[in-house]
Amino acid sequence: CRKCLNRIKKTQHLNAYITVSEELALKQANEAERRLRKGVPKGPLDGIPFAVKDNFCTENVRTTCASNMLKDYTPPYNATVVQKLLDQGAVLMGKTNLDEFAMGSGSVDSAFGPVRNPWSYEAPYRERSVADPESDWVIAGGSSGGSAVAVASLASFFSLGSDTGGSTRNPGALCGVVALKPTYGLVSRHGLIPLVNSMDVPGIITRCVSDAATVLGVLQGHDVKDSTTVIDDPSPLTDLPDDFDIRNIRVGIPKEYHGPGLSQETLAQWTRVADMFERAGVQVEQVSLPHTQHSIVCYHVLCHAEVASNMARFDGLEYGHRSEVNSSTEAMYATTRHEGFNDVVRGRILSGNYFLLKQNYERYFVKAQQVRRLIAEDFRRVFGSGVDVLLTPTTPSDAVRYADFVKEDNRTRSAQEDIFTQPANMAGLPAVSVPTALSSRGLPIGLQLIGPAFQDRKLLTVAQWIE
Ligand code: GLN
Repeated sequence: CRKCLNRIKKTQHLNAYITVSEELALKQANEAERRLRKGVPKGPLDGIPFAVKDNFCTENVRTTCASNMLKDYTPPYNATVVQKLLDQGAVLMGKTNLDEFAMGSGSVDSAFGPVRNPWSYEAPYRERSVADPESDWVIAGGSSGGSAVAVASLASFFSLGSDTGGSTRNPGALCGVVALKPTYGLVSRHGLIPLVNSMDVPGIITRCVSDAATVLGVLQGHDVKDSTTVIDDPSPLTDLPDDFDIRNIRVGIPKEYHGPGLSQETLAQWTRVADMFERAGVQVEQVSLPHTQHSIVCYHVLCHAEVASNMARFDGLEYGHRSEVNSSTEAMYATTRHEGFNDVVRGRILSGNYFLLKQNYERYFVKAQQVRRLIAEDFRRVFGSGVDVLLTPTTPSDAVRYADFVKEDNRTRSAQEDIFTQPANMAGLPAVSVPTALSSRGLPIGLQLIGPAFQDRKLLTVAQWIE
């Protein structure tokens, strides 16, 4: 715990944490130490430091969603996932930075400033970079950039992110750490401030695959406070099996993932790992997911529609920021929301309400739902034919320079960055990103495995083999 606190201080320039709960962490760590000395640990995570994305509620610890709207909000309760970790004796180090309300894929749109990728400051990137790291740093990915950076920079042992369209896997890949999005319904969303209720899943970021399995083992399971969690848990997960034989696995390579923005180096990694599977005796085959090409557009229609509805609660009365303007209730609402939300959030509220207008509802919202079903059917057909996992890139390239990234608007960036990650959210499937190599610039490249629903354990077992 003390070592992590030191790392947090040393890596402040990365802007990974919004709030550091130092006093609480030291208290929890002391209690854990006493238990460990007595030889009575609470479980595998007793005394282990963790960080939590700042869109999960934490009792008596400020929870901001990186927004001015909630910058002074302190919840009276813990999200179920946080409570489960605390019950196991894990030590909460603090709350991590993100794109406001988790809308983004770079962790650059935060009211607390952008997150920086620790690899910007490491050789060989530092040596090869022409400019100094003050101006030539690369993005951490997002929206759970702070959580990925906390783990990658050793300022936490593991962390929680949220994954609606790729927000855990994307920064995991760009920061060189393992990032798991469990099956929708396996892990409770209670206390995760919603972005898209039908796609949000708490994500797990760790340094190795077996750590992710351990944390998932603690987090998974039915929660009476989240009616979308499954009651019968079909894949009880403790340790990964040792007797696993990779030759019994069939790996699918979806041909539609050879998208236009895919970099040569990421493609080369993808080919290398596919070849590695083949050499080990795995059956590797090309598969087709024809509706994938429409996924990103439909994702945004559905996302914005749910955002428009979810953000309605931030009206200046119940939670968070309230404007000084009080000439009328309407004026108070309008200025509160104008002052509280950034452009990205306001833009999504507007377009979401547009998609939901009576005359547009069938044309956009219903259509996107129908295509969503077809996307899920594509996956079901491929997995039904005997394929165990799909191997794809996580992001189209290694991390982009901040200065280049912010030249594009949020929507364009998302269309590029989330292209390979959001289909798994549309279909509710488990997916994990594993670091596989460094690019010629010295930045991490990650690959993604996607599995059938509730086969999280098998997915992690294959991921561990790659690792
Ligand atoms: N980048 C995507 C978006 O902006 C995904 C966000 C997420 O997974 N939280 O919606």
